Amino acid sequence: MVLVAEIEDSEEKHRGKKLNESQRHLLSSKLGLWPWVPNEIKQLWEEKILCFLELFSFPEKRDDFPTDDIKLLVAAEACLLISKRDFSDYRFLQSIHIWENQIPRQPGAHGMASMREVHLSWKYLEKTIGKGRDGQNLVLHEFAHVIDFSDDGKAQSIPVPRTSKDFEFWEKLIAEMHAKIVSAHSEGTKFPVRSYAGLKCDKGLTPEIFSCGTSAFFECGKSLKQECPDFYEAMAGFYGMDPATWKKIG
Ligand SMILES: [Zn+2]
Repeated sequence: MVLVAEIEDSEEKHRGKKLNESQRHLLSSKLGLWPWVPNEIKQLWEEKILCFLELFSFPEKRDDFPTDDIKLLVAAEACLLISKRDFSDYRFLQSIHIWENQIPRQPGAHGMASMREVHLSWKYLEKTIGKGRDGQNLVLHEFAHVIDFSDDGKAQSIPVPRTSKDFEFWEKLIAEMHAKIVSAHSEGTKFPVRSYAGLKCDKGLTPEIFSCGTSAFFECGKSLKQECPDFYEAMAGFYGMDPATWKKIG
């Protein structure tokens, strides 16, 4: 857990600061999403990245792994989600574990998240981090789970606590989205949110809609807006961004 005072100190220290040229070069050459994030967001994004690297640990798996470049790439995608939000979304986070190949004891999983930890497979991430248009983004997905956990300890795709005036709105929206996702995929229709989002747990919770929806929101904003305007609008309000309007250059 990161103390609010630590977050505030770090934000104060990095206010108005920018990444250096080599950091920016790395992100612009490796991150699929980098080229089309508007400049007005980039300033806030860069400040958040610098705070993130200072506040969270990336435990070493062997000497010099993960490298500083890998940490920067992961921090950047994690911070895109909170560029226009409060850093307290990540207040329960402690460490980010990046594994060279597989995540131990999780065969087949490329990533996983709890309130306190994120685990990522670099072997998978390395192959996919440059793609910014397919709506499937491992880092955005896992950190969206962290955000979904942080409001009430549950990742059920409702990113606000039960006491919030918006809870019922999200509950209804997510139920509608679930029906849409299941029906589109069962009919074989092309849909911006992948079928995994339809997963339902024993208790009837749908933990993957917010995370899969977050990846689709940032990477396929236009088609998400077209297919699911209410969900898109809610995500745009939540993240404070409008990716459907971003110019997809590069
Ligand atoms: Zn997930």
